Amino acid sequence: ETADIGVTGLATMGRNLARNLAHHGYVVALHNRSESKTKQIMADHSDEGAFLPASSMAEFVASLRRPRRAIIMVKAGPATDAVIEELAALMEPGDMIVDGGNAHFADTRRREAALKERGLHFVGAGISGGEEGALNGPSIMPGGSVESYRELGPMLESIAAQVDGVPCCVHVGPDGAGHFVKMVHNGIEYSDMQLIAEAYDLLRQALGRSPAELAEIFREWNRGDLESYLIEITAEVLDHVDASGQPLVDVIVDQAEQKGTGRWTVASALDLGVPVTGIAEAVFARALSGHPEQRAAARNLEGPNGTAPNYSLVEDVRLALYASKIIAYAQGFDQITAASEEFGWNIDRGAMATIWRGGCIIRARFLDRIRTAYEANPQLPTLLADPTFAEALTEAQQAWRRVVSTAAQIGVPTPGFSSALAYYDGLRRERLPAALIQGLRDFFGAHTYRRIDRDGTFHTDWSGDRTERPA
Ligand code: NDP
Repeated sequence: ETADIGVTGLATMGRNLARNLAHHGYVVALHNRSESKTKQIMADHSDEGAFLPASSMAEFVASLRRPRRAIIMVKAGPATDAVIEELAALMEPGDMIVDGGNAHFADTRRREAALKERGLHFVGAGISGGEEGALNGPSIMPGGSVESYRELGPMLESIAAQVDGVPCCVHVGPDGAGHFVKMVHNGIEYSDMQLIAEAYDLLRQALGRSPAELAEIFREWNRGDLESYLIEITAEVLDHVDASGQPLVDVIVDQAEQKGTGRWTVASALDLGVPVTGIAEAVFARALSGHPEQRAAARNLEGPNGTAPNYSLVEDVRLALYASKIIAYAQGFDQITAASEEFGWNIDRGAMATIWRGGCIIRARFLDRIRTAYEANPQLPTLLADPTFAEALTEAQQAWRRVVSTAAQIGVPTPGFSSALAYYDGLRRERLPAALIQGLRDFFGAHTYRRIDRDGTFHTDWSGDRTERPA
């Protein structure tokens, strides 16, 4: 009973998380369903810290000091349920199970409630940063009770990435809050990548630049407002020439895959009634890319004979990318706000921006601006209303419009840029055509409408004398 914490599930993520914990001086118990992975870590890394390998779950649990803490890093879904059950059966009231996998937040809510009944703490912790992050400092988004965070928090904070001396880990909120925020983080990651891909595609098609020349443009952009890990690695990928001497990006099959967290984000946004168009367009663009039969069938459809106008497209695209990114993040934070209200999580949005500054895939200078915006006004109804972002949008909007119209004229799809601009213009409008939609709904379904000049709801007798009466 000497291990401070245990990790069960020692594939890529679990192995590196266990090593990270050991590097920070914790005694780490190790377990994996197939023992070969446990043995492999002992063979490769036992000199890095104090590990206690276990060949069975019972031995693993027995090696943990009390109250016990075990992190699960296995495949999300039924595998996680199976491992939780195995662990819970061996644990005692007051012990803690942490799920660091990519669980759906609804599963986490269910598991937390069930384990609480058995006297066990359950913490669903979103962990971002992939293989490298898990080893050297991820961004960690733990949910669960305040009590469990009090015990677990210091340990997680010590192994998380640090930015300006601040750990990229904070207690997000009760039950599924951590996994929810991790899910939205992944959705935002989808939209970031989609916008980068559109910028690349448009510049390449419109200006005929080579991947290497485009890499240089992204490198340049990485010195300004867009500075981020994803922009940095975009330059790396574009610059890479494979063994056959071709730019790698030209030989990779152009069908983007997905593991599902983007889709979860959009499904949840539909349930919550939050327009996350940036993330949704990104998920759908990947889906479109994955239908080669439809793409082949559509190949001969007519395209435009327009040419790219002769203006400073590179700078315009940079501005359009930045503006669209602001929209996508604003929408993602709206989704967090809505869920926080729906589930009573009381999430501090500024703190989420703070813990995404390091360790994770969307890490960027930009997140500091979001943190500042919520610090200045914790009740901010939309990030677009923050003076700094409003100014950035003002500066970008003419360029953004030129980019969207150029893309349409030369036939390059930019669903991210275009829908972000439509969202911006939609929110800006004093009156929306939603009034007409309400009129139509009242006409065919007597769904009623409200008026701008009187309180109450009304119905017009469309099939009769068309007089209006209170509904
Ligand atoms: P995988 O998702 O590939 O899962 C493999 C691990 O799960 C192995 O240890 C495997 O054990 C174990 N496992 C699978 N089924 C069972 C079962 N029924 N009972 C017990 N153990 C089982 O591993 P990763 O390291 O890639 O990811 C772990 C978790 O972290 C996942 O939830 C993933 O979504 C999440 N995650 C992954 C990231 C990444 O970059 N890879 C980033 C952030 C989160 P065995 O060796 O015996 O087969």
